[in-house]
Amino acid sequence: MLDANIKAQLAQYLEMMEKEVQLKISVGSDKVSQDMQELVDELASMSSLIKVEKAELERTPSFSVNRPGEDTGIVFAGIPLGHEFTSLVLALLHVSGRAPKVDERVIEQVKNIEGAHHFESYISLSCQNCPEVVQALNIMSVLNPGITHTMIDGAAFKDEVENKNIMAVPTVYLNGEPFTSGRKTIEEILAEMGSGPDASDFEDKDPFDVLVVGGGPAGASAAIYAARKGIRTGIIADRFGGQILDTAAIENFISVNRTEGPKLAASLEEHVKEYDIDIMNLQTAKRLKKKDLIEIELENGAVLKSKTVILSTGARWRNIGVPGEAEFRNKGVAYCPHCDGPLFEGKDVAVVGGGNSGIEAAIDLAGIANHVTVLEFAPELKADAVLQERLNSLPNATVLTNVQTKEITGTDKVDGVTYTNRDSGEEHRIELDGVFIQIGLVPNTDWLGDSVERNRFGEIVIDKKGATNVPGVFAAGDCADEPYKQIIISMGSGATASLSAFDYLVRSKVEV
Ligand SMILES: Cc1cc2nc3c(=O)[nH]c(=O)nc-3n(C[C@H](O)[C@H](O)[C@H](O)COP(=O)(O)OP(=O)(O)OC[C@H]3O[C@@H](n4cnc5c(N)ncnc54)[C@H](O)[C@@H]3O)c2cc1C
Repeated sequence: MLDANIKAQLAQYLEMMEKEVQLKISVGSDKVSQDMQELVDELASMSSLIKVEKAELERTPSFSVNRPGEDTGIVFAGIPLGHEFTSLVLALLHVSGRAPKVDERVIEQVKNIEGAHHFESYISLSCQNCPEVVQALNIMSVLNPGITHTMIDGAAFKDEVENKNIMAVPTVYLNGEPFTSGRKTIEEILAEMGSGPDASDFEDKDPFDVLVVGGGPAGASAAIYAARKGIRTGIIADRFGGQILDTAAIENFISVNRTEGPKLAASLEEHVKEYDIDIMNLQTAKRLKKKDLIEIELENGAVLKSKTVILSTGARWRNIGVPGEAEFRNKGVAYCPHCDGPLFEGKDVAVVGGGNSGIEAAIDLAGIANHVTVLEFAPELKADAVLQERLNSLPNATVLTNVQTKEITGTDKVDGVTYTNRDSGEEHRIELDGVFIQIGLVPNTDWLGDSVERNRFGEIVIDKKGATNVPGVFAAGDCADEPYKQIIISMGSGATASLSAFDYLVRSKVEV
């Protein structure tokens, strides 16, 4: 079941186990059950601290990870290999008594949650965003006896996923009701449960020298450069990490041959935490006002003040804005082929958008789905020739150019898409189960209104030093009007904006 390389790595981790762990396994005679039994036996053969016993659990095949004599509440329904292998290793370590790497404040918050909370997370083994949710919920189960969590592999429990109309992963249920979807940290889950910080937690903060708004590559870089000058630095992010959290392989971050987005996001956070930077994660800025100091008002009502501000709020997926798109989001309308592709195995899907990301998505999906139709508004695809050739060589992909997507239809989930041929004006309909939208990104700058100059695309207008039209306000990365949107470019412009902010503080009358 496990290859020699993985076994060698696993052996090292299992040596870190502190106390005995009991795996209770519920299996039948099907293939997944046999594989699960093999995996569990293999684990037990590698550590004398792992014991296995047969049990009747809610789902078969599944197994739970427990302290002896006490059910911890962690269940894996499906085989946690692929991206979930780390979740399995961490569950074994944490249940054995090894402390999870989580802030003390967060641990206290989890321990203080009252009542019974049973989480069920629906995942796919190829989903990059799922392990974070699975690991967060497992840690919560370890810390609080009132919390339990079952990870459910959608591929192993297809009927359940179909019955619940789950078409995006991770999707989390709490006590039998839909709770949340998408990648989430423990802090985000706690905030959704109503245990996040409120305005009073920000009341006593002194003004900052540099306040960075946005925690992606640009913001992280800006904050580190500012903190290294020894000035008072804060960073607000509604989702620390930014777009790279949704990125699979990254192969153009110079000096690193290949990495994965979530891994790079974790390194960014680790690097920022090396410095004296006030990190305010899960906080959304809603207004900027220039007074003597610059004021940033948060969604929770708190107002933060700073001598300079660096805006690095990045970008988000662009919507096509047709009927059905918002209504069927996560019910057949998807944006992340790596995450949600496996839920469309053997089905018919469309990709809206014929640029590089659209054609890459179509190639990816053609390996899983029954058929993929690409809908491109322009008369020709815009993707690189090599990608177009690859797509054209696939037997189950069709490309429609010069067409306008009109509506995504369905009742409780997507059942089709309608489009018009822009030459003839004729309307057509394709019956399908999923639509992946891949038409680029839009900057996260609406909240700024007229407070800072933006161009017609909504990007913040900056000069060579990253300065905006408002003295003391700088911008960097995908939210600004720089020509190229890449990680390395965002980091560079974050550094530029930060050095410019420092220069501004030194030269202007604002005391450092
Ligand atoms: C699927 C995909 C694949 C990609 N692949 C690559 C690749 O291989 N190589 C490469 O170089 N680039 C790649 N990119 C592009 C790259 O991810 C971006 O250029 C980069 O992340 C931009 O960094 P940023 O810091 O400017 O913005 P983002 O990464 O968008 O970060 C913005 C930050 O601001 C926060 N924020 C937004 N609004 C607010 C608000 N109002 N208040 C508080 N915080 C806010 C967000 O939560 C986030 O923390 C990819 C992008 C995508 C979507």
